[in-house]
Amino acid sequence: MRIILLGAPGSGKGTQGDRIVGRYGIPRISTGDILRRQIAEGTELGREAQQYVDRGNLVPDPLILGMVRDRLQQGDVENGFLLDGFPRSIPQAEGFDALLLRQGKRLDLVVKLDVSKRLLIERMAGRRVCEKCGALYNVKSEPPRKEGVCDRCGGPLTQRDDDAEETVRQRLAVYEKSTAPLIDYYDAQELLVIVEAEGSVDEVDARIRAALDARTGREEGAG
Ligand code: ADP
Ligand code: ZN
Repeated sequence: MRIILLGAPGSGKGTQGDRIVGRYGIPRISTGDILRRQIAEGTELGREAQQYVDRGNLVPDPLILGMVRDRLQQGDVENGFLLDGFPRSIPQAEGFDALLLRQGKRLDLVVKLDVSKRLLIERMAGRRVCEKCGALYNVKSEPPRKEGVCDRCGGPLTQRDDDAEETVRQRLAVYEKSTAPLIDYYDAQELLVIVEAEGSVDEVDARIRAALDARTGREEGAG
């Protein structure tokens, strides 16, 4: 399964992505996670990327495409992968298509998570992440059992720097301008499935599963 998870920041890509990769046993590749790790480690790429991430802007396409190309060299992508947060612009999508073509591979599905703007802002304001293991929570909708403490590993929960309200608005504006055009791009390739992504994590999960099952079923049926 080669899947792209598309959606505005706060649409639930991280949470739902975790579930999908658990079910299919494929790695989740999040360009945001890779960037945050590079920034934390202070690598050259991290230092270059930080100025963009902090302002809620897109890191330049060539940097991102190089990062993804390197990641796809690793052996664990043999049975597929889930991309979360990539591609995020038409040039990234075109670069990725060229990369896949060279490898003789193709995408199975692009899942777009649909959430109203009002809810996006609310979700990001409440989002907390475990500093140790990266588990995601929301103070309103998915609170940890004990406030500020990770259920899984006991690590401290914090708010991402770029989840501050002003940066959130900038990230949403960037999404509308640069990323939303990918919906038509993948629809034209007949890869797009739109999933209504308000409601509980389990409800959305069930809708995604149905969409993926329908897709695999159809492919088997077609031989
Ligand atoms: P979210 O989807 O919640 O906005 P991410 O973790 O995917 O969060 O991304 C955080 C930031 O990392 C983005 O605002 C952007 O600055 C940078 N980033 C992540 N992925 C990409 C990408 N594919 N292209 C450009 N910038 C990216
Ligand atoms: Zn944790």
